[in-house]
Amino acid sequence: MYSDMFNVIGFNWLSSPACTELESVVLDWMGKLVGLDQKFHSDGRGGGVIQGTASEATLVTLLAAKYRMLEEYKAKGADEEKLRTLSTRLIAYGSDQTHICLKKATMIANILFRALPTDDNFSLCGETVKQEMEKDITNGLIPFFIVGTIGTTNSAAIDKITDIVDAIKGTNVWLHIDAAYAGSALICPEYKYLLEGINQADSFDLNMHKGLLTNFDCSCLWIKERKYLINALSITPDILKNSVSESGMVLDFRDWQISLGRRFRALKIWFVIRTYGAKGLREHVMKTHKLANRFRSKIQQYPDLFIIPTTPNFGLVNFYVKSNDSLKNSNKLTEMVSNRLNESGKIYLTQTKMREQYIIRFAPGSPLTTEKHIDQAFELLLKITQEVTMVIICRSQNKLSYTINVINEVVIPVFLVLKEKAK
Ligand code: PLP
Repeated sequence: MYSDMFNVIGFNWLSSPACTELESVVLDWMGKLVGLDQKFHSDGRGGGVIQGTASEATLVTLLAAKYRMLEEYKAKGADEEKLRTLSTRLIAYGSDQTHICLKKATMIANILFRALPTDDNFSLCGETVKQEMEKDITNGLIPFFIVGTIGTTNSAAIDKITDIVDAIKGTNVWLHIDAAYAGSALICPEYKYLLEGINQADSFDLNMHKGLLTNFDCSCLWIKERKYLINALSITPDILKNSVSESGMVLDFRDWQISLGRRFRALKIWFVIRTYGAKGLREHVMKTHKLANRFRSKIQQYPDLFIIPTTPNFGLVNFYVKSNDSLKNSNKLTEMVSNRLNESGKIYLTQTKMREQYIIRFAPGSPLTTEKHIDQAFELLLKITQEVTMVIICRSQNKLSYTINVINEVVIPVFLVLKEKAK
């Protein structure tokens, strides 16, 4: 509301110094809150910028990485034509759990993409990265960009970032960390252990609109060497030329993003931090995780009905309905429960499929959610699951009794008649 009120279109510093300066200030605040290395702060060669979404952040960092890699070849003497040929050999990587925004970014940028397999915990490991990149290099490709995720969309899995850093050491491969959902947790002391890997990356993104009480849209992207992003995206027609920009003393955020125009989104972060403070935001994050844990313990009290297939991370609980006979039946039961839950109009849960298993996802996030809501949600889940499993058991029992009846009342009498006639 406020950001609409201050209806500036702050594409460059001149069009709104306040919009630009406040954005650097609040992203430095947030960067410090998360625990990002000094190199990501705006007083050095890096800095933060607000993107609309994590998808946009992925696309622009992919372009920055492409620029950096081609610069290396240019420095070695490659001309324009050679650079064009080299571009067709660039390859970007994610895992089979990376958000589809990476694939989309490679489609937009017309870049090759490979989704690497994950381990039993759905995490991407350094060894896999190393092996696959070596294979591609042997085949003439040029690895240049990899996304490591902290909190994947399906199961909030955490890629082995420090191992990935080791795997790409000595190369010019750009490591982007996508922490769109789980990045908010990094403001809490409990999750600071994740920073070791993150701080060795080239860029890092989190969505404040996912877990930090900020209205959509507010995706915070930090980058260690802003010049690559700026050089990749900067075009200055005459209409945008001005002496302030040319002085090199200011930032023009139009060069950090896809569009030209941009809103005063920094105000949202300013209000959120001034309203809740670091303490309030941390309490909110930990409260949502605590509520998720409450739901998880309830699920665990019914091991005959539910299975939790993935390591619960952050505030997400994945589960499915157990079936003793087959994956197909378990999927059928889980899908029926999921549909009935959503049709109830009382709760809405999303679902996913992981290695063929149908899964329901539960992730509390609203500041208004209380333990009472969690208990009510679980009671509804339990009731619906018991009803659905009962119906299935009855149906299968009916099928069995139908078959027995047919044998008793049709097959056997016909057989006896035929046998009698044969005499
Ligand atoms: N990355 C992760 C890990 C996500 O969970 C999501 C959305 O769910 C995205 C990226 C895409 O987010 P956005 O809608 O901001 O592009």
